[in-house]
Amino acid sequence: MRKLRLKTPAGVVADYFRLFVNRRAYTLQSDRPHAESGRHYYFRPSDKKTGQGLSLTPDTLRGHIEGEITIALYAINPATQRCKWVAIDADYQNALPDLIKLGYYLKQDGVESALEKSNRGGHLWIFMADPLPARDCRIYVYDLALRLGVPVKGGGLREGIEVFPKHDELKPGEYGNAIRGPLGIHRGAAKRFWFYGADYDLEKQMRYLNGLSKVTGEQLAGLIAGKAIPPQLTPTEPKIEAEFKGRAGGPEFRILDHIRTKLRKVGRNHVTQCPSCAAEGHDRGGDNLSISIEDPRKYICWAGCTRDMIRAAVGCPRPSADRGQKANHG
Ligand SMILES: [Zn+2]
Repeated sequence: MRKLRLKTPAGVVADYFRLFVNRRAYTLQSDRPHAESGRHYYFRPSDKKTGQGLSLTPDTLRGHIEGEITIALYAINPATQRCKWVAIDADYQNALPDLIKLGYYLKQDGVESALEKSNRGGHLWIFMADPLPARDCRIYVYDLALRLGVPVKGGGLREGIEVFPKHDELKPGEYGNAIRGPLGIHRGAAKRFWFYGADYDLEKQMRYLNGLSKVTGEQLAGLIAGKAIPPQLTPTEPKIEAEFKGRAGGPEFRILDHIRTKLRKVGRNHVTQCPSCAAEGHDRGGDNLSISIEDPRKYICWAGCTRDMIRAAVGCPRPSADRGQKANHG
């Protein structure tokens, strides 16, 4: 049964759109928890008839704000490779002190940020006056985090902050990673997470976000002058692959290193949940992915996920040079 429509002021929806929506594609959080993990996964909603991905509208945002649905937003607009915001996601122990520290030093750089609670930690948001290149945004945040000794996930660390956008740029057809839209109601926690900086009221929260200074292109250029993405965080050179390359002719990517779900032995294969299917809320039975026991470089998703999709789902996208070769293994 649907609750009566709350009256979200039109201004709140318009402000939300302007602050947070940089492209119309979005993902939707599943109402039902995943059978095995208990997590509420996000999937891309599509039109039942045409199969086309749905486009975000002001009504979608209204539904999100009023808690009927919970959506996640993509950082990068692929047409420009730019973003309107950067979100720093931290959900490990001591995540909040790290986010507060980042916020403090951002402010020293003249960058205002807004801290939002999350289920297990928080999200720190930075807004741009106009969309700015994803790469430049990432250079700045990574550089600051490393200078402060704040752990960054990836680069050999299992726990640390995650920076959205997660890519410097998107290739055609890619979406990158989405983060839960602020002020929505998390399906699992069944509660709304607010920004710390204002009273817990939608209009006051929006007024607070509107009032924050926004980063300009000139400002960002000054902050990253002479800097680059730290080599240990450059996606094309993950540490683990470099180690494997050291062994003569060894595999560069081992799917088994990235699987956290239970493996079952079926014939000559390990069978487990496909990470790409799981990210879309599918494969509840946990048996779509088969991995050859003899040669774990060989794996296939029986639901048809490509290697690119699976590798992206485990956070190890293939370097573009590898694409298009050897369809189902390697
Ligand atoms: Zn799959």
